[in-house]
Amino acid sequence: MYQPERETTVGRHTRIIFWLVALSTVVLPFAPAYAQELYHQSAPLMHTFVEVKAYGDNQTATTITETFSEMERVNNLLNNYSQTSDISAINARAGKAAVTISPETYSALSDAKKYAQLSKGTFDFTVGPLIALWGFNREQPGLSGSDPDQTRIAQVCRMVDYRALQMQKKPSGQTARLKRIGMRIDTGAFGKGVAADRAILYLQEKGIQSALVAAGGTISAIGVKPDAQPWQIGIRHPRNLSSFLTIIALRDQSVSTSGDYEKFYYKAGKRRTHIIDPRTGMPVSTVQSVTVIAPCGSASDALSTALFVLGPDDGLKIIEEKEGFEALIVTASGEVVYSSGWPQKIITY
Ligand code: ADP
Ligand code: MG
Repeated sequence: MYQPERETTVGRHTRIIFWLVALSTVVLPFAPAYAQELYHQSAPLMHTFVEVKAYGDNQTATTITETFSEMERVNNLLNNYSQTSDISAINARAGKAAVTISPETYSALSDAKKYAQLSKGTFDFTVGPLIALWGFNREQPGLSGSDPDQTRIAQVCRMVDYRALQMQKKPSGQTARLKRIGMRIDTGAFGKGVAADRAILYLQEKGIQSALVAAGGTISAIGVKPDAQPWQIGIRHPRNLSSFLTIIALRDQSVSTSGDYEKFYYKAGKRRTHIIDPRTGMPVSTVQSVTVIAPCGSASDALSTALFVLGPDDGLKIIEEKEGFEALIVTASGEVVYSSGWPQKIITY
């Protein structure tokens, strides 16, 4: 996903934009007067590029710097590639002991469990052993030998089960334990969403009323811009990465895209992408990209990965049942399907 450099005109024909425009004319006269300078910072973080834009007074630059520190702090708790994170502590003690974790890690894992349940285990944060089996835990993903055989895949699949994460909340603190030796939590599918949520909350605590946080594939927005226009987000075309499939308006929501173009390699003429179906142990090859709009970043991030595995039929069923969620899926053949409340017409494919 990518945010367009230049603003594009929002089509007024869609219902959602019409209401945004209509509402803004009502709300604007009562909006508090605050200096409306745009402040902006970007930096590499969480193995991706993170960007924060916020409108505000001359304290805003400092607030954004602090927001980055907050995201870094959350990442230091959740990053399974960092030896000192809570997640690495749980992984190191898998099958052995319960580990004391921070309240934030506890809350992130509790949420992740909910999304795993909701998606019937197609989003499963214990997918770590499968990620390693297919060589996606490396800086340069790939396999040195041939594809793993079916027996090995089946063995490793047995090490993946989100229900085997035991969590306890006690007055002395909260703990987590993976039931079996060899199990591994991988936060790749939801950690950036959790960090984006923390960033949004921090900006709001500091009184920011208009901001955008982009953490790799997850983008979250606060409010509208001072001219009452919503933030606009370009959704990348999965096969023509310099152009957009569509542009959506985002207001107090998050959007995440999972794409087969993010991390992949070719083996025996097959494209192997980094999202793995925990039911079969195989990299998913039926979808090019999935974009999910949700009320918060952890939800859109986890569910974009879930829908990538579920595909259009089962995936959109889950989305249609949930208030405040929309999704757009590009299948392997290039067909674009989307939920009934998807906010904007597709521009091109
Ligand atoms: P991105 O990292 O590009 O934002 P995703 O949010 O879809 O993309 O996350 C993909 C990452 O999630 C993978 O690189 C891997 O670490 C992890 N992952 C892969 N398959 C699954 C799965 N079925 N459930 C949970 N996590 C997964
Ligand atoms: Mg995700």
